[in-house]
Amino acid sequence: MAAEAGAELTMMENRFVPARFKDGYGPVGAWFLLFKAKAANAYGEDYMAKNKDMLNDYPPYGQAAVPASCLRNHLMLKEMKEGRGPIYMDTVTALAKLAETLSPKEVKHLEAEAWEDFLDMCIGQCGIWVGENIEPEKKMSELMPTEPYLLGSHSGCCGIWVSGPTDLGAPTDEGLPGVPDHLPKGWSWGYRSMTTVKGLFTAGDGVGASGHKFSSGSHAEGRMAAKGMVKYVLDNPDVKPEFDETPEEIAAAIWKPAKNFLEFKDYTTAIDVNPNYITPKMLQFRLQKIMDEYVAGCATYYNTNDKMLGVAEEKLEMLKEDAQKMRAKDLHELLRAWENYHRILTAEAHMKHIQFREESRYPGFYYRTDKNFVDEENWHVFVNSIYDKKSKKWTCFKRKHVDLVDKSKLFKAAAPH
Ligand SMILES: Cc1cc2nc3c(=O)[nH]c(=O)nc-3n(C[C@H](O)[C@H](O)[C@H](O)COP(=O)(O)OP(=O)(O)OC[C@H]3O[C@@H](n4cnc5c(N)ncnc54)[C@H](O)[C@@H]3O)c2cc1C
Repeated sequence: MAAEAGAELTMMENRFVPARFKDGYGPVGAWFLLFKAKAANAYGEDYMAKNKDMLNDYPPYGQAAVPASCLRNHLMLKEMKEGRGPIYMDTVTALAKLAETLSPKEVKHLEAEAWEDFLDMCIGQCGIWVGENIEPEKKMSELMPTEPYLLGSHSGCCGIWVSGPTDLGAPTDEGLPGVPDHLPKGWSWGYRSMTTVKGLFTAGDGVGASGHKFSSGSHAEGRMAAKGMVKYVLDNPDVKPEFDETPEEIAAAIWKPAKNFLEFKDYTTAIDVNPNYITPKMLQFRLQKIMDEYVAGCATYYNTNDKMLGVAEEKLEMLKEDAQKMRAKDLHELLRAWENYHRILTAEAHMKHIQFREESRYPGFYYRTDKNFVDEENWHVFVNSIYDKKSKKWTCFKRKHVDLVDKSKLFKAAAPH
């Protein structure tokens, strides 16, 4: 929606592919951090240790105490691709080790924590454990990287380009009193969290280029955005936002899927089979299939290239054409239809940005196999874009990246290039 309003987007090529318990999507953090469990290939080999040298190919070139999420996937994927899967979380050894120093009561308590961890945020995983007779102290559980997610948090940083806080970057080159000189200029345009469209704000997952926030950070950012909005409204009492279209035009556009249904529903006897319309569910499958098979989805182990992106581009164009024939048999489907319109645009932005960034900056999240390297010289930048809803064209461009923290202080040795 922000893209259609002309707001500048940022890092839409970026995505998040978490390693999770297979089929149920259960979180792994508690197992790694609290229970000190190790992940291993099907033959019991710790792939993080075994494939450690692969970390030297990418910044920070083996220097990070904890390798980035995408690089952990990168090392895991090698095992999967070379046929040493499935990957397992070794819950058995972890719990046995804990039992050496803890009392049986304490171990039981920890086991309860493991179940609670799933019940707290991913109840389905408990269903898998129950359904597959998995007792974590007796049977290991499979892990695998998930399908890609587009988000502006939790190590994903795609989203909208917004104004930073006023103490981060002055609007002009002269700087602001009290603002340290090394901070980038022009990263604040007065109202925290305002997009490049005047009066349009976002927060949390809507904000790109700031991937190190989570649920709580999104909530905090929502409060900051709300304060920015109030300030904007108080400063601009005369602003009266207006739509480009008339109310009648907007209503006609919103109801189109319902109209498609009412017009053609009696043409066939099977409500879902009709040459004149497509159900939102089927259209969503088609979108997922295009993205999965051509834009670095699970189907290709997250690989894509310029040619595959070209095919995706063509197929997305046709999908957009056919989307005009989506039907809505009730309000629920109307909601789904509209989710699809916006998803297609988001998917298209993702594809265009991957096309534009001629390197593979996030190995393990996706690879452009025709540019399978990190190019620090040309691509240590933000990739931003603007969508023109009239011409339906995307324009991608680079924005300079500025380190807020002196990198040389983070890593002990200089990186080999
Ligand atoms: C796979 C994954 C794993 C994650 N794991 C964790 C984790 O373990 N811990 C953690 O802290 N965070 C985690 N996060 C991050 C966390 O989920 C997000 O940071 C947080 O949900 C962002 O909050 P938000 O309010 O910005 O967006 P959302 O929670 O997405 O809220 C946006 C809401 O707007 C609604 N909406 C959209 N369009 C419209 C419309 N047109 N009209 C009305 N409503 C609309 C949506 O339905 C949605 O409810 C994870 C995220 C993902 C994707």
